[in-house]
Amino acid sequence: MLNYLLPNEHVNSIFDIHPESLKAKKIKGIITDLDNTLVAWDVADATPEVIEWFKRMKEHNIKVTIISNNKMERVKIFSEPLDTPFVFSARKPLRYAFKRVAKKMELTKDEIVVIGDQVLTDVLGGNLAGFYTILVVPIVETDGKVTQFNRKIERRVLSYMRKKGKITWEE
Ligand SMILES: [Mg+2]
Repeated sequence: MLNYLLPNEHVNSIFDIHPESLKAKKIKGIITDLDNTLVAWDVADATPEVIEWFKRMKEHNIKVTIISNNKMERVKIFSEPLDTPFVFSARKPLRYAFKRVAKKMELTKDEIVVIGDQVLTDVLGGNLAGFYTILVVPIVETDGKVTQFNRKIERRVLSYMRKKGKITWEE
C-alpha cells in the first residue's frame, strides 16, 4: 500500500519537466493537477511561464489535460484560455477520472505521466490508475481547508517513508 504513495520522480516544479525528456521516454501525454502544481491555489490565471510551458508541450505534440478536485468555475476559468481539456471535481485519488481522461486522450498508460503536488490525491491516484507519477513541490505553503488536512497525513507518510529509506530526495 505504501508503495502506491511513492512517486516515480520528484522535481521542484513543472518547469523541470521538459518535452524533450518526456519524448525520450516515449511519453505523449500529461495529466496534471492545477492548484499548487501549475499556479498557487489562490491564483486564478496561468502565469506567462505556465502559458509558455503549455505552448512548448503543444509544439512537441504532447497532449496536456488538467484534472482537479476543485470546482467547475475555478478549473474552467484557468484552463479555457490555455485551450486545454480539463476535468473538475475529479475526486482524486479515485481512478475513474484518470482512466476516462487517458481514454479521451487516446493514449495508453505507458504514454502518460501524472503530475501533481499532493501524495494523497495526485500520486496515489496516478499510481492506482497505473501511470508514471511525478511529484512537484507545492507552489505555496498555504492551502485550502481540505488540503490542510491531507497535508498533515502526507507529512506523516513522507517522514515514515524517509525513515524507511524509501525516499532519497531532499526536503
Ligand atoms: Mg494540488
